[in-house]
Amino acid sequence: MAGKKRTPKTTKKVPPKRKPIKKGPLTLEPGPSSEDFAGINPSAKVPEIQELPSELKRLRLPVLLSPSEVELTHRCHRRHILGDIFRHHSFQSPSATFGTHLHRGAETWWQQTQIQGLDHLPAIAMAVEAATEKWSVPEGSYHTKDLMATIVQHYCSNARLQGELPGEWTLVNLEQRYLAEIEYLSSHSNVFALSYQTDRLLQSVKDPTEYAIIDLKSASKLSDLWDQSMNRSIQQRLYNILALTRLEREQGEPVKVHSIVEGIQKKDGIRMKYVWPSLMWTPGILDEAINLAIQAAQMDEAAILGIIQTADESFAETPPDFSQDEDVQKVYAHSLELAATQSSFNYMDCHSYYFPCAYLDVCNSDPSDRLPLLLERFEHIGQRIS
Ligand code: SF4
Repeated sequence: MAGKKRTPKTTKKVPPKRKPIKKGPLTLEPGPSSEDFAGINPSAKVPEIQELPSELKRLRLPVLLSPSEVELTHRCHRRHILGDIFRHHSFQSPSATFGTHLHRGAETWWQQTQIQGLDHLPAIAMAVEAATEKWSVPEGSYHTKDLMATIVQHYCSNARLQGELPGEWTLVNLEQRYLAEIEYLSSHSNVFALSYQTDRLLQSVKDPTEYAIIDLKSASKLSDLWDQSMNRSIQQRLYNILALTRLEREQGEPVKVHSIVEGIQKKDGIRMKYVWPSLMWTPGILDEAINLAIQAAQMDEAAILGIIQTADESFAETPPDFSQDEDVQKVYAHSLELAATQSSFNYMDCHSYYFPCAYLDVCNSDPSDRLPLLLERFEHIGQRIS
């Protein structure tokens, strides 16, 4: 893959060149030169955009995405823009927050047993503490600390380091975050970054060119449908191809990477299950996942450029001063309104994973009512803009 410029195979047409964005305080730093990148650069460092206030940090170019954000973009782009780019904390679903804390418990378990050599019982206690501390559970939530403690205990007693994989495997690392840059044809940056994390990376003892990435997922039900969704998961496929590219670059030779999903069921009896979706994937299927990531980056870039340009024009007379709350609030409100009214959306995703989308009322209202509704419903935005 190195040395080859990637373009989405489903789109043959090169997008027309847009006029460059106006120079001014809202203009973002240009992306790195495309000559610096070739295909996937698996050890990238995306420059921080210091000039933008924290509320607007994700309105940045080059685009920065995670594999789960790529997946969400293809389900509903508006939901991705409002939830990920504008980063509403109140948007995060109770399930996602539960999953984040469960990961802390699982990481502590493997850290203490595999690396520190701690005994079973004290390691369980540490894992439960790691999963439940610093977690304010919303009142009346199904996801309680007692449920978390029970699930972590079950996990510690039943999880297997390598899942269903035969043979002997060693732990290479835990919860590592990586950044890959992908070169593509776009109207502005010609590169975007994919930030991804692997829960556990293992290496075969028998064959050092064989690796496995294990991804922990909590689910209400570990049904056959859940297995199938893991086989089709864009997120899992991206983890696989990004890890494969990085490891081949590091090793200097072809490697094999297995993807294992470690599921834990929360409802109707806690239980665990391992699925091995990479058995179903061909190189062509993995290439399709990269193409979907490229299409998601193109959609984000177009949306961000549109938002920035329009916000810039609203300051035609006096450029915004980002040290002034008032100016930040004005840009933020303007951008939010555009995102809630001009972005593409998909009503088929409004009730995915058994939960109503946090923006259902917003999308069901008249476009002119959406900004006030967002400001009223999302506390920290209301505080910031009032
Ligand atoms: S309510 Fe539906 S259309 Fe609106 S952002 Fe959510 S998923 Fe998308």
